[in-house]
Amino acid sequence: MKFQSTRDLNKTKYDSAQVIKQGLANDGGLFVPEEIPMISQDDIKSFCHLSYPELAATVLGKFLSDYSYDELLDDCKNAYNNDSFPDGACPLVKVDDSTYSLELWHGPTCAFKDMALQIMPKLLSRALVKTGEKKEALVLVATSGDTGKAALEGYKDVEQIKICVFYPKDGVSTVQQLQMTTQTGSNVNVCAVEGNFDDIQSGVKRIFNDEKIAEDLNKQGYFLSSANSINFGRLAPQIVYYIKAYCDLLIHKEIELGDMINVCVPTGNFGNILAAYIAKLMGLPINKLICASNSNNILTDFLNTGRYDRNRDFHLTMSPSMDILISSNLERLIYFVSDAKQTAEYMNLLNSKGCYQVSDDIKRKIDKNFVGYYADESQTADTIAKYYNLQDYLMDTHTAVAFSALESYRNEHKDNTKTIVASTASPYKFAQNVYSSIYNSNPYDDLAILEELSIITGTQIPKPLYQLDKKSINFMGVISADNMFDEVLNFIKK
Ligand SMILES: *Cc1c(COP(=O)(O)O)cnc(C)c1O
Repeated sequence: MKFQSTRDLNKTKYDSAQVIKQGLANDGGLFVPEEIPMISQDDIKSFCHLSYPELAATVLGKFLSDYSYDELLDDCKNAYNNDSFPDGACPLVKVDDSTYSLELWHGPTCAFKDMALQIMPKLLSRALVKTGEKKEALVLVATSGDTGKAALEGYKDVEQIKICVFYPKDGVSTVQQLQMTTQTGSNVNVCAVEGNFDDIQSGVKRIFNDEKIAEDLNKQGYFLSSANSINFGRLAPQIVYYIKAYCDLLIHKEIELGDMINVCVPTGNFGNILAAYIAKLMGLPINKLICASNSNNILTDFLNTGRYDRNRDFHLTMSPSMDILISSNLERLIYFVSDAKQTAEYMNLLNSKGCYQVSDDIKRKIDKNFVGYYADESQTADTIAKYYNLQDYLMDTHTAVAFSALESYRNEHKDNTKTIVASTASPYKFAQNVYSSIYNSNPYDDLAILEELSIITGTQIPKPLYQLDKKSINFMGVISADNMFDEVLNFIKK
């Protein structure tokens, strides 16, 4: 299997190890597999007998052909082990007769990003060996909360890699901040920055795009690497759990082999839902992909009109990991339903004008697979309360956006196909908003509320979030956005 850039008319081919090491293609495009490997119904049947690491190694092997099955199995066993995922990698919970919650948050940081970031550093480590890379990878992350912690847990103590995470000083929750400042590991650095997430993201981009900086780092034995979902190494592991969920439905006799299901995903950067689309292209019997957004409903508008327009107000919501105006992975979908020339054209328009309108033909192809719905803040809160009160199911704010969007879809289309909803964070990670959605009041501080939520709902605080305030703080630094590169230099000199 070879890879190429979504914007490369010459279709230059790359190996998977190079793709994982490099992240973004040189022309600014994203790497995609040159063809989609297929799975048959017999394959799906046989997958039902595999453990999660075995299934993951099998599926990853179809894309990452320069890794051996044994290498992948080894890495998958280490990534999805019982210590990191004490409840299994991704339990599927039946919420009502036709709705199943795929809980992707039972990993070390209680958000779905663990599903990819527990395995990706291991794949990068092998990629360094496979490509004969002697320099050390320096992973820089700008985070609005979830990605930073998940990346820290994934990359900590991995050889030949260092990781430095920047977060907005006043822009993350108390839980998220404590998760990061109490981080351990010999190769990690965490730093608060004065400013908002955009300032920090721009700061990191400036470092990535500066040739002089690249040269400086090169002389010191480093090259820059990125951990966000533009990297195919983060996308591939996300395909696995949709196949696993289908197998779980078969095993529990909820469906029969070949039955179509729908999938509903709370979406930000379009990575998670794109992975479900790739599973569908591979032959998994998925009918509709329901793309759920919060009040930043740029994708809902795009799926309804074919026009992507980022010239709009940005809203801070209670589902902050979906507060995004540029969904990078949409570029891969555009490529799959058109070609490199068309993709490059639209992406140039997005860059210069902030908007583009896809052709009728492309719109038709997207419509066959995707629908878009959104939930505003009060719909999100109502959904949390309703499912807790009526179904005894406690969900976080991001998951609630998806459940609400699914209801809107079903009301409009009268489609009662069995549906898997991707549940992307533990309710405890966003306890304040979950609590106030159910009880309409908010009398506790950020940390006390975890205990309170546990007592009144009779559910357990996940171990990684338990007594966070008793852990020792290892990172106290606060810098201005102008000093981010100095911070990086100081870190690598240590
Ligand atoms: C990152 C994240 C999302 C959005 O996923 P994308 O792959 O960016 O679409 C949704 N929910 C939570 C909790 C997240 O952390």
